[in-house]
Amino acid sequence: MNAPGTTYSSISPFLTAIKGTCPRCGKGKLFHGFLELAPSCSQCGLDYTPLNAGDGPAVFVSLIGGFIVLGLALWMELTYEPPFWVHILLFFPLTILICGGLLRPLKALLVAMQYKHKAEPGRIAG
Ligand SMILES: [Zn+2]
Repeated sequence: MNAPGTTYSSISPFLTAIKGTCPRCGKGKLFHGFLELAPSCSQCGLDYTPLNAGDGPAVFVSLIGGFIVLGLALWMELTYEPPFWVHILLFFPLTILICGGLLRPLKALLVAMQYKHKAEPGRIAG
């Protein structure tokens, strides 16, 4: 990931995740497109290729988005008992908005945390 002796940033991973910027310098863009990571930082040259959040963002988005939408749907059903089409009309777009809105910042957060805590694939000593 980084050469030995490389200093790691003290910039908050949450701040860089919200802004979608490089976890080291906080200035360069992290993404190339909606969810694809850029190959490297345009400002400091940090190589993003070893950084991989895997399925982590999707798991967190499912848990957080599901909690919010299901909680609201249950509350609405128990309070107002609306017809089924009201649920579809309200909660289908809400699910898309919440999940789509959370996916990018959560991916950026996991990548920034991976960088900050020096998480790397395991190696066999030899
Ligand atoms: Zn950078």
